[in-house]
Amino acid sequence: MTEPTPHPPEDGIALITGANKGLGLETARQLGARGLTVLLGARDSRRGTTAAALLAAEGLDAHPLLLDVTDPGCVKDAAALIEVRYGRLDILVNNAGITGAFTGPPSTATAEHLHEVYATNVFGVLTVTNAMLPLLRRSRAGRIVNVSSTVGSLTLNADPDGGFGAYNLVTYQSSKTALNALTLAYARELLDTPIKVNAANPGFTATDINGHRGHQTPAQGAATAVRLALLGPDGPTGTSQDDTGPVPW
Ligand code: NAP
Repeated sequence: MTEPTPHPPEDGIALITGANKGLGLETARQLGARGLTVLLGARDSRRGTTAAALLAAEGLDAHPLLLDVTDPGCVKDAAALIEVRYGRLDILVNNAGITGAFTGPPSTATAEHLHEVYATNVFGVLTVTNAMLPLLRRSRAGRIVNVSSTVGSLTLNADPDGGFGAYNLVTYQSSKTALNALTLAYARELLDTPIKVNAANPGFTATDINGHRGHQTPAQGAATAVRLALLGPDGPTGTSQDDTGPVPW
């Protein structure tokens, strides 16, 4: 796909959750390379500081930000810190995600199993987004990117040839389906504002979340989130996309 025009431009402020490793770190690296100030959200301050130092050593304007998406107090403090330091936020990438400990078939799952995964992948996104929205509204071109997964697509799950085979992890997959629903809900609410809200599907990428079995590099996997974070004013909102374009809901 063609390179997007950076928007917001060089003085933009971007927050990426779960940015101390994997796709989040790579998303921060690619946005930082466009000249944006990148805030690396991390639930562990040491891991966040190490990751930000790595990007700073590459010449990027990167800063750690303590941010456990499941801790509303921590999220509130992070928003307050951004407000004091920058006064606004241009890009929010809700990247932090887990698959959870449960790996069995749906009939053996408990509500606790579901809750564990939703706490990060769904409720965490809601908490972070609502805390950051006042700052995003101060941007000329706010962008929210929710890092989803094609395994959350209802259309693909309903298709016997959808490509998932025996993979049927109700906790993780339904959390990404719910995240897709959140994406649409926010896009609808913010339709009359400059803020665009889209879901990015990275594709199967070698990171800790899958024991590095993915066939893509993090740099390849992060490309869709970066593209959606840099959408111009004519770009879409309320879409789910991968590196080839729209993905069915
Ligand atoms: P990863 O390497 O395991 O990274 C996950 C990141 O999320 C880590 O930084 C982790 O922090 C952070 N995190 C987890 N719980 C958190 C919390 N409560 N608060 C803040 N941060 C938290 O996995 P990844 O592949 O980069 O995953 C990134 C996103 O891409 C996830 O949403 C995942 O579902 C999605 N995704 C990945 C793939 C793939 O094939 N890799 C495909 C589709 C979608 P710690 O280091 O502290 O644990």
